[in-house]
Amino acid sequence: MQLQGRRESQNVEDNRRSTGGGFGGFGGFGGLGGNTGNLFSGRGCGCGSGVGVIILVIVLWIMGVNPLTLLDTGGDSLSLQQGNSDYTPTAEEDSYAAFAKQILASTEDVWTDIFRQMGKTYRPPTLSLYTSAERTACGMASADVGPFYCSADEKIYLDVSFFNQMASQLHAGGDFAYAYVIAHEVGHHVQKLLGTLDRVDTQMARSTENVANELSVRLELQADFYAGVWANHENKMYQSLEPGDIEEALNAASQIGDDTLQKQAQGYVQPDSFTHGTSAQRYNWFYKGYKTGNIADGDTFNANPL
Ligand SMILES: [Zn+2]
Repeated sequence: MQLQGRRESQNVEDNRRSTGGGFGGFGGFGGLGGNTGNLFSGRGCGCGSGVGVIILVIVLWIMGVNPLTLLDTGGDSLSLQQGNSDYTPTAEEDSYAAFAKQILASTEDVWTDIFRQMGKTYRPPTLSLYTSAERTACGMASADVGPFYCSADEKIYLDVSFFNQMASQLHAGGDFAYAYVIAHEVGHHVQKLLGTLDRVDTQMARSTENVANELSVRLELQADFYAGVWANHENKMYQSLEPGDIEEALNAASQIGDDTLQKQAQGYVQPDSFTHGTSAQRYNWFYKGYKTGNIADGDTFNANPL
């Protein structure tokens, strides 16, 4: 991807700090609560033991739990009060951070334009860069859960070390794969602004687990579709895509499909527990968004089959 000279977004909080260890309290939290949209999912993990595939330490939907109560019970919260004065990012971390800010700026340009065409105003989300652990309005986040969007504070939480995890553990490296990840989370923000996230969240709270999972899949595939829509418009505006870029995003979408992750983690697949869609579905919806560039073509809630 060609980004030379492109602006960096100002809608960024840099909360990166020295980690220093000692933060192991996630097991008791059970994951993020509330209205969140993350990148991928998995089930059946020890959640907190650190054993097994690290990416499967997962965000589960905690129905009916006020995320703020999770914050209040966080025994480790004091360790988060430390400032970032002793934190010195590596050159690689800084280049990832600059990249993330440029991609966020691009999503602002693209979605402002698309919203304007719909007669609406786009309100950009904030990107919160963090390391190791972070308090959010949706509960505690750790690097292990991967990037996610919290609708309660309209922030995208990203530990840039996740990009290295994508390359080394998920077989999903490449700059445009990382851009897709950010664009997917921005896709959840678009869902928030359009009312989709709240509507589906209400439906999920009233549903059985299997139905809620299916709604989650449709929500996630729409975020993939919106990431594709962004890629389409980004390239139209800036001619930034290079050969292989779309393939990097498609490969990433495929590598984080529920079926692929479950096969790697447990050797078998449980379709009822899918929350993000299969590899083929994620690949197809991103690609569809990229080809059409039109958000009207992304009604995953009425698409059968997906
Ligand atoms: Zn998501």
